[in-house]
Amino acid sequence: MQRTLMLIKPDAVKAKSAGGIIGMLEKAGFEIKAAKVFEFDAALCQVFYKDHLAKEFFPRLESFMCSGTSWALILEKENAVCALRELMGDVMPEKRVPGTIRYHYGHGITDNGVHGSDSLENAEREIAIIFR
Ligand code: ATP
Ligand code: MG
Repeated sequence: MQRTLMLIKPDAVKAKSAGGIIGMLEKAGFEIKAAKVFEFDAALCQVFYKDHLAKEFFPRLESFMCSGTSWALILEKENAVCALRELMGDVMPEKRVPGTIRYHYGHGITDNGVHGSDSLENAEREIAIIFR
């Protein structure tokens, strides 16, 4: 069994999509082990997204992530990291296919509904940051 971190981002929380997203997770066999409702501030965003700090899109990402409430979920399943990345769908809107969370509940590139850890190591790092 692996665990991973999902964030339901401010656009999806505002759009009342959290219930629909959790329904997709349950149908796909994920167990929800912990949940937290919280808001990012700039300091937390800079730690969480440290690998993106130098990217040109970081200011947009930071202001979006700090724009409202997020939900964090610790999810468990066999091969959870890859399974969640597949269920989430692509970061680029034109590459999202039906049946993925971002196809149904994402909006643009930045406001894409959800985050999922991209490796086991990052999953543990991100869980420690959010559930500290
Ligand atoms: P996430 O990390 O949220 O699961 P991802 O791994 O698919 O998504 P990353 O490349 O890690 O995408 O980028 C992190 C986040 O930064 C994206 O989810 C998105 O919100 C934002 N982002 C990524 N690329 C761009 C871009 N070119 N322009 C604006 N925002 C972007
Ligand atoms: Mg990523």
